[in-house]
Amino acid sequence: MTERSGERQRSTQVVIVGAGPAGLVVAQCLQRAGVDCLLVEQLSAAQLCARTKAGMIEHQTVKALEQVQLAGPILERGGRNGVLEFRLEGKPLVFDYAALTGGQGHYVFPQQLLVEAWLGGFGERAGAAALGVEAVALEVEPGGADVAGVGGARVVLREAGGKLLEVGCQAVVLASGAGTRLLPQGIESLEHTYPFRWLTTMIAARPLSERTIYASHSRGFAAHLRRAPQLTRYYLQISEHQGLGDWDDERLRAELALRLGLESVQALQGEVVERDLMDLRVRVREPLQHGCVYLAGDAAHLITPAGGKGMNLAIQDALELAAGLSERLVQGRSERLARYTETRLPRIWEAQEFSNWMLALHCGGVMSLHRAEPDADDGYARRLHRAQIERLFSDAGFARWFAHRYAGVEEPA
Ligand SMILES: Cc1cc2nc3c(=O)[nH]c(=O)nc-3n(C[C@H](O)[C@H](O)[C@H](O)COP(=O)(O)OP(=O)(O)OC[C@H]3O[C@@H](n4cnc5c(N)ncnc54)[C@H](O)[C@@H]3O)c2cc1C
Repeated sequence: MTERSGERQRSTQVVIVGAGPAGLVVAQCLQRAGVDCLLVEQLSAAQLCARTKAGMIEHQTVKALEQVQLAGPILERGGRNGVLEFRLEGKPLVFDYAALTGGQGHYVFPQQLLVEAWLGGFGERAGAAALGVEAVALEVEPGGADVAGVGGARVVLREAGGKLLEVGCQAVVLASGAGTRLLPQGIESLEHTYPFRWLTTMIAARPLSERTIYASHSRGFAAHLRRAPQLTRYYLQISEHQGLGDWDDERLRAELALRLGLESVQALQGEVVERDLMDLRVRVREPLQHGCVYLAGDAAHLITPAGGKGMNLAIQDALELAAGLSERLVQGRSERLARYTETRLPRIWEAQEFSNWMLALHCGGVMSLHRAEPDADDGYARRLHRAQIERLFSDAGFARWFAHRYAGVEEPA
């Protein structure tokens, strides 16, 4: 680092903004390839590792992480799940999707533990990660990028005490999540907001079952997802007009029990370790690159938790981008990096389409997606919804398609 007349400067090859799953995967892959990089995260390590979000990890994501020796925490400490249950007004319909994918289902591992493990691994090299530091400005030098997608950029960082540091680099990765602010011009956002919300919660209690449970009820959707032996995630569909203040722990447990068809709230006792509101927003940004600035993960696309695809996409973006940047910066080969948008966008839209379909399946069928409240009186829509779920049990080809897409397993040609 140099200091000239109070202006602090540093240079590196790649600045990565955000130490969520996307940023951490890019950073570790670049570091291993011998590319000098700086990972910048506005939160402290403790804050970062307390963010409970994802837990369902696709088969193909874990296989891809294995190729770069990053799957260790999931393989060593994670669980597996290959069975899900649809509960229609309390009546169970059990779907064994692993049986349709050659025994492959999801890996189950809490995102916060994965982030903690990856951060620990990456942080071993002093100076490579700057935590509690916010990227506040981004400037791409005139000319933006050479034809090969790397050029000159400057990122201004604000450190904890308020001091500014300017970092010059050849490429910037914005892996800064859904609230990304430093977007370069020329990137279009295509987005939509569904007219209802999910209340997301995590209870420190044993799961009700090994299975994921998706409950459809005339009062709305509820879900149960195993995360760890003493940690279970629940979702509850609520009106967009309701807030957290409308749902104290007692009401939350009672409503979950009702929609999940439980006899009592007993199994839902345990500390509510997280309670949050989720507006169901979806977005894709196109293209994923402007000059030498690249988007990855939620910064590039936002998806609802329906289908469990967000973190998977983030990791898959990161692996592709890191491979392209390494080939360019270490070997001087630019083809892969130049195709980053072209390679990732079809996969991103495929996941958006699947997740939108799954959201409809959860929340009362396609006719429910534009309603603010479930309509218990619409008998036609409810019967249609049941037919949509029952098709998974009567149409073998459809069931196989669903099982592969849900678990993230390539269908044999
Ligand atoms: C309740 C819930 C359940 C989910 N379940 C699943 C699931 O089962 N499976 C699945 O695949 N996905 C799931 N997801 C989605 C998944 O959590 C996200 O897609 C994933 O976190 C995206 O990772 P990311 O690295 O792109 O972004 P993030 O995890 O959001 O990380 C971005 C980071 O950038 C930092 N940052 C932002 N701006 C700046 C700045 N200017 N300077 C420095 N740092 C900055 C932020 O502090 C943050 O740490 C779920 C999400 C939620 C909310």
